[in-house]
Amino acid sequence: MSIMEGMKIKMAASLEENLTKVYENIRQSAKSVNRDPSKIKLVAVGKNHSPKKIIEVMKKGHYRFGENRVQELLDKHELFYDQDIKWHFIGHLQKNKVKYLMKIDQLEMIESIDSLEIAEEISQKAAEYDKTIKILLQVNIANDPDKFGFSKEEIEKVLNNVEKKNNLIVKGLMTITPYEAEMEETKKYYQEMKSLVEVLNNNGHNLTEISMGMSRDYTIAIKQGATIVRVGTAIFGKRKYY
Ligand SMILES: *Cc1c(COP(=O)(O)O)cnc(C)c1O
Repeated sequence: MSIMEGMKIKMAASLEENLTKVYENIRQSAKSVNRDPSKIKLVAVGKNHSPKKIIEVMKKGHYRFGENRVQELLDKHELFYDQDIKWHFIGHLQKNKVKYLMKIDQLEMIESIDSLEIAEEISQKAAEYDKTIKILLQVNIANDPDKFGFSKEEIEKVLNNVEKKNNLIVKGLMTITPYEAEMEETKKYYQEMKSLVEVLNNNGHNLTEISMGMSRDYTIAIKQGATIVRVGTAIFGKRKYY
């Protein structure tokens, strides 16, 4: 091992440094395309990370977090129910779990609506709990057989349908690009997402959010118009699966 490599290990970045770096990258990417960095929402994805780490991030003044499993979100919510936290649900949601999300007052948004059935269930449960839930429709922009989400061809039909449902507000679209895609390809998918939103808005819809970009590509996503980025590893480090 070279001396430099040894030093890198010693200087392993802290959560605080990671978060500062991510904010700085967001600022620079936004500036580079004349966008206002304060308009970009960072969702710190703490899945598979301990509540202790979430506390550390909150101490630095960041309060918007994402989880992709209902049970983990409920566990963390229970610990932080009295915090001014904003939760985003970002995973594939099962119908029978929707009711649990309704109990979380700090739920800012469900980003991952991938079927009409789940939209209908949220609408019904939201009515029961007397709530209005903000949602994003998940688009499988790469037609990736391993991913959930609507195709871009069907999205307008879906949107017309979901916009009529009670107790739901469709704020925009969300996508997860294929993990193995090259950066150029990923960039193309993000551009397609942006154009899709523009087309829909020209047709009278009012979508203000585009959630796209993860640790490896959030700077690219911001340059293509992301308003929400979901960053886990770059803040919390590698996930341990147990
Ligand atoms: C885990 C996850 C992320 C964060 O991924 P990183 O590569 O760790 O930044 C973003 N979005 C979704 C939907 C996820 O499940």
